[in-house]
Amino acid sequence: MDIATTLAAVSSAKDFASFIIGRKIDTAVTERAIELQNSIIALQSGLLEMQVQIQAMSTRNRELELLLSAAEDWKAEDDRHQLISVAKGVHVVTPKAIATDPRTPVWYCANCWQKHFKSVLQRRHQDYGGTSYYCPNCEAKVYDHSDPAEV
Ligand SMILES: [Zn+2]
Repeated sequence: MDIATTLAAVSSAKDFASFIIGRKIDTAVTERAIELQNSIIALQSGLLEMQVQIQAMSTRNRELELLLSAAEDWKAEDDRHQLISVAKGVHVVTPKAIATDPRTPVWYCANCWQKHFKSVLQRRHQDYGGTSYYCPNCEAKVYDHSDPAEV
């Protein structure tokens, strides 16, 4: 039985208690009917509070389902990528599918990746020491020593 149906049944019981009170059968019956009516009013109040709590839990459950779905989506995305080292001490995240070539055209910022955010590293410049990249999200800098400018 749902809350609305239960509240309707309780309301009927309350109406019946009011009916008994109104009939003035005798003092003892009237006193018991008043006690019954008070109990029913307390029951109605409790049910209404429970209805509010159920609504709040339902809303929270929906929020948690969305968070779980997002976490599962990220896990699947994370499983399709890996952290690679493009040079000594230089790490980026790249799709596994093309990771056999470390010169992949898409490198993601490892710092942002840990925060579940995909930020593509952007090439800034190249000199004789290597190639510089930056993350437009967290402004991390990556210097690839293995890719210097040609003389
Ligand atoms: Zn970043």
